[in-house]
Amino acid sequence: MGNLKRRKFLQYLGTGAAGCMVGGCQEESATQTAQPLTSNETFEWKMVTTWPKNFPGLGTGAEFLAKTIQEMSNGRIKIKVYGAGEIVPAFEIFDAVTAGTAEMGHGSAYYWKGKNAAFQFFSTVPFGMTVNEMNAWLYHGGGMELWQEAYAPFGLVPMAAGNTGVQMGGWFNKEINSLSDLDGLKMRIPGLGGEVLRLAGGTPVNVPGGDLFVSLQNGVIDATEWVGPYNDLAFGLHKAARYYYSPGWHEPGTTLECFVNQEAFETLPADLQQIVLVAARVANQDMMLEYVARNNDALEALVDEHKVDVRRFPNDVIEKLRELSEQVVAQVVGDDPFARKIYDSYQRFLSKSKAWYNLSERAYLNLRDRDNPL
Ligand code: CA
Repeated sequence: MGNLKRRKFLQYLGTGAAGCMVGGCQEESATQTAQPLTSNETFEWKMVTTWPKNFPGLGTGAEFLAKTIQEMSNGRIKIKVYGAGEIVPAFEIFDAVTAGTAEMGHGSAYYWKGKNAAFQFFSTVPFGMTVNEMNAWLYHGGGMELWQEAYAPFGLVPMAAGNTGVQMGGWFNKEINSLSDLDGLKMRIPGLGGEVLRLAGGTPVNVPGGDLFVSLQNGVIDATEWVGPYNDLAFGLHKAARYYYSPGWHEPGTTLECFVNQEAFETLPADLQQIVLVAARVANQDMMLEYVARNNDALEALVDEHKVDVRRFPNDVIEKLRELSEQVVAQVVGDDPFARKIYDSYQRFLSKSKAWYNLSERAYLNLRDRDNPL
């Protein structure tokens, strides 16, 4: 793809595509992508995922996306979803979709930090944006265009396709009373949070979700974070660890992604391209809402039925983790102008958002509960 065509293609995916949803500019989009508006051709795609098949929230979110695309296209795109390891292992789906082994993948961008450390900014940043802020940055603040630019060299078109909201801090078999309690700890914790643990003297490891419980129970790892009550209960992590720490300072609103092989995407007529983009937006929101609804019941079950000991990280531990997080981010952007460009955009958006959120969301949450002031 030539530079001009690529730029137009990226414009189409960004603000152009958003405009089409409300304004109906299909003709212009079709011109840009040189595809017919529609056709009778049908497509059978594979979606590979980093999740166990049908795992609550994450795996079911991937299924929801596939089903939504199929229904919106009246069966013109059929997508078969594969769990981790069915076609390729969890952490090989990025390469598999680049290679065209499957047309789509469903995971999270921080799993591909080996390709480019800056990809982690498209998942989540310790002490960074919440789910609403992240989606606002992606859809209305220039984040999505940067993400497309980041994945273009790999022949992939990224889309946000889910979000967990604020995660939990993790499962531990000892109390965390000071930063030194993390020293020597072997913990499953992905992304930038993992690098923070490394600076604190721990060893971050990335174990696919499906192997977590056994790894923790057998002592292969000392501690783990995963997602939150809904997902953690499903894996039975409370049976392998004693303390459940809040909050997930390292994952304050993690974006799940789907990515499509660019050639496969460009082969679609314009209306199907639009359906894939819109379905991803729907899936992105739906997963977040599912977490909001299901975490409540799961937390109740963990505390009331399973008598889990829920703790909060002490403030001085949080402050030290914040300092280390700033060091980790500085290391990522320091080496790479493109990483700096992404993070500058992220940080500019977050700074503005903080001013407003302090007057709105934070102010309101602080006063909402008479019995449980923050
Ligand atoms: Ca996590």
